[in-house]
Amino acid sequence: MAVTTGREYGLYIDGELREPESGDVRELVEPATGEPLGRAAMAGEADVDRAVAAARTALDGAWAKTPPTERSRLLHALADAILANRAELAELESRNVGKAISSVKAELHGAAENFRFMGSAIASIAGRSNPIGGSLLFYSLKEPVGVCGQIVPWNYPLLMATWKLAPALAAGCTVVLKPDAQTPLTAIRLAELAAEVGVPAGAVNVVPGDGPTTGGYLVSHPGVDKVAFTGSTKTGGEVMRLASDPIKRITLELGGKSPNLVFADANLGDAIPSAVWSIYYSAGQSCEARSRVLVEKSIYDEFVSAFADKAAQLKVGDPLDPETQMGSLISDAHRSRVHGFVERGSEEGAEVVTGGQPPDGPGAFYPPTVLAAVDHATTVAQQEIFGPVVTVTPFEDEADAVKLANDVSYGLMATVWTGDPARGHRLARQIKSGTVGINMPYTAFPGIPFGGYKQSGFGRELGIDALDLYLETKSVIINTGTRPANPFGL
Ligand code: NAD
Ligand code: MN
Repeated sequence: MAVTTGREYGLYIDGELREPESGDVRELVEPATGEPLGRAAMAGEADVDRAVAAARTALDGAWAKTPPTERSRLLHALADAILANRAELAELESRNVGKAISSVKAELHGAAENFRFMGSAIASIAGRSNPIGGSLLFYSLKEPVGVCGQIVPWNYPLLMATWKLAPALAAGCTVVLKPDAQTPLTAIRLAELAAEVGVPAGAVNVVPGDGPTTGGYLVSHPGVDKVAFTGSTKTGGEVMRLASDPIKRITLELGGKSPNLVFADANLGDAIPSAVWSIYYSAGQSCEARSRVLVEKSIYDEFVSAFADKAAQLKVGDPLDPETQMGSLISDAHRSRVHGFVERGSEEGAEVVTGGQPPDGPGAFYPPTVLAAVDHATTVAQQEIFGPVVTVTPFEDEADAVKLANDVSYGLMATVWTGDPARGHRLARQIKSGTVGINMPYTAFPGIPFGGYKQSGFGRELGIDALDLYLETKSVIINTGTRPANPFGL
């Protein structure tokens, strides 16, 4: 089912596919094979200008005239359209990212559910009214923040696009979405599907392009009211700088170095396979990958050997094979970066228990890799590797576990495995991260707020919390009294 090869993907601006004024059309390569995948247009400044203008026109026009009940219907229809087109979208995403199609299929359901949740949550967009006293009446209005510039990375191109689009559209905002230059295809298809179900032209625009140029231009654009960014912490800092002068609203979902804490009283029959999944899902290219496993000392050796056995059993290979559990990395360049970390880890004294060598042959594959006995101060224990590489470090007791868990600059996610429920709740309060999972490896659920503490960013995705970040609150105060208002007594 060669749905993609050969097609040329334009920019999506003002309700239609367009040739880029930039003239920049690139050949995309499948990372798992090195073969050509399709051609995709990249936006330049003039293209971003057009997209922002279309979003502004829709914000004040067709989208402003689309009441919440109708927006709700459109978001539910878009969820249906995603599922109706899931075979095509899954293949496109899998081939573009190199990701196992079994993973992509799970993500597609999440993608659809995000639109359903926000489509339903529109009903809860309401101001409030409360007495001030005397003759004054107050009520508040919730209004869309405006035109949103949204920037998403290459690791979950479709899912991240839905995390961004769903709350924005629900709130009545319009969007200019910039996918990563390597992975624009499913976002373009999503914009086409939005148009097919009736979302008016200009509400959703998609302008793939390079980060510092096209992305930076979008963030700085005077026609953009709010910026929502997902990507690296370093780039997040740059986005903050660019957005600071005009005081744009921003939300940042950044990197992580998330811990998986395994206590000796845990059910290891669940903890070990879940910990394996928690790092190697998406080949470790996830912001919330539990890339640091912290294990109580008394079970450390047993844990490392069982974990490494299971990691080595994973089916790595052709992303389109339904049996595959881990596909390739996003590119050869990224693989070199990941391997550089592993070499650095060895130099710093970590033991490579399994993996650690890129295979021969085509494709950006890298094996599940386990680094054991890692000193917590070393590079591989502190920096985000963003590949299928885990560090396993022993801890002494609960206090030591919490100290190690919090001893990084990030705070996105943490998983705790323990047979003691009280300890689970205790740790949930002590670990500094946006999400804590107890005896449960999964991370992102439609409707449950997701986001960072510390350098993992601020603001939340998913849930009512995310919707609120696309709304301004306006206070309206009315005099209902009969006495004239004449404060100076004039
Ligand atoms: P990145 O932060 O550079 O890119 C993310 C997105 O931001 C892309 O769409 C990119 O084009 C855009 N961008 C880059 N520079 C920009 C700028 N100056 N202004 C506006 N937009 C800009 O991430 P990357 O280079 O693709 O990956 C590098 C590392 O970032 C990874 O190895 C990983 O550690 C981290 N990362 C994290 C996530 C996440 O989900 N939190 C996703 C991707 C990458
Ligand atoms: Mn970059």
